[in-house]
Amino acid sequence: MFVSDCLGVSDHGNLTIGGRDTVELAQTFGTPLYVMDEDQIRRNCRSYKRSIDDFYGGRGRVLYASKAFCCKAVCRIVDEEGLGLDVVSGAELYTALAAGFPAGRIYFHGNNKTPEELSEAVRSGVGYIVVDNVYELEVLGQIAQSAGFGGKTGKRVNILFRIKPGIDAHTHDFVKTGCIDSKFGFALETGEAYEAIKKAVVMDSVNLSGIHCHIGSQIFDIEPFQLAAKVMLELMARVKNELGFVIEQLNLGGGFGIKYLPEHDPVGYDQYMMLVSETVKDTCKALGIDTPYILIEPGRSVVGPAGITLYKVGGIKDIPGVRTYVSVDGGMADNPRYALYKSEYEMLIAGRAAEPKTRVVTVAGRCCESGDLLGENVPLQEPRVGDTLAVLATGAYNYSMASNYNRLPRPAVVMVAGGEARVVIRRESYEDIIRNDL
Ligand code: PLP
Repeated sequence: MFVSDCLGVSDHGNLTIGGRDTVELAQTFGTPLYVMDEDQIRRNCRSYKRSIDDFYGGRGRVLYASKAFCCKAVCRIVDEEGLGLDVVSGAELYTALAAGFPAGRIYFHGNNKTPEELSEAVRSGVGYIVVDNVYELEVLGQIAQSAGFGGKTGKRVNILFRIKPGIDAHTHDFVKTGCIDSKFGFALETGEAYEAIKKAVVMDSVNLSGIHCHIGSQIFDIEPFQLAAKVMLELMARVKNELGFVIEQLNLGGGFGIKYLPEHDPVGYDQYMMLVSETVKDTCKALGIDTPYILIEPGRSVVGPAGITLYKVGGIKDIPGVRTYVSVDGGMADNPRYALYKSEYEMLIAGRAAEPKTRVVTVAGRCCESGDLLGENVPLQEPRVGDTLAVLATGAYNYSMASNYNRLPRPAVVMVAGGEARVVIRRESYEDIIRNDL
């Protein structure tokens, strides 16, 4: 009925998440409020893991891309489900380690990691560092040496190279990352990637375990992933044939699309893994190389469908012949995605969830900015002041992209599991807002 499986309607006609009444959750915990269904997150982790077991003989690992939503509770859940973790900053790494996530299963990404972050990663024994450029490779080499890697020790820091495979994924320009004109990674077409690999394989403080690509986000087609896999395997074969060096891991990134609107029809994980596994196996056979250990890095599709945001409706402005603005007590500060990319969401009045949507409105936030909208042309039940408005599928890139614009405190995050609701991130207070002001 709704875009996510974890949502339903109570006997009172209220929207539920993980079996809990959202109108009650809004009353108990206040609004704006992010609510996540832990059981749904766990189901998503398991589906990904199972797809690798079923179609690639378990020779791979699922890494949760924590940029989608990073907090200690989610790191613990992902750890319990046996996934690895992709972190992209010192603070994401810090969060994961504080949650007790095993360092050996962490992959450290980023196109401009600072020397301090690289040192922290090496010091904390992070499993793999995904190197983005030659400068970073050189800095990491020095850091690794001073930390006792290389030389007679035989110890090396495991690295992957992020490669731009030159694949055009059909998605929004801002979330496209695999083309030559991208700030991320080594270019393949120019020979930059190959030259960097030649350099890395003779360094004694690092071990080039794998190559990585991530072609974009919110992608519905499987073909770009298959094309990327082929291009990456060709590079692996060239390195083996010309340099005699075997790259063992192939990280195919994340980017799997989710259902934000009823008309969206994302491909199932099984379908993705079945086709990509076939491509990998067939291509390896044709190239005469062994099949690599595979990594995938879903973020949005693990947590996105598991989350919703609840707001309270304030002023409603009907501008005859123009539009109706329905203002809520949050906005671009807790969900900047419409302002950034015009990302659309399904919305509803939580207390009349099963009623037909008879209005088309613009949902506006409370920030001092005309572009502070959560959606335009949004079908909605007749809105009334004081209603709880639910925005669906906000589990990814909402809390993690939130800001304190207008000094708005960030909302709390509540996790529902087995019908119980608990706060996993407290609502910020005004005191939190001025904490670092001197
Ligand atoms: N891996 C890398 C390197 C990324 O940059 C991203 C997203 O930007 C992801 C994985 C996760 O992508 P998604 O959340 O679309 O699955």
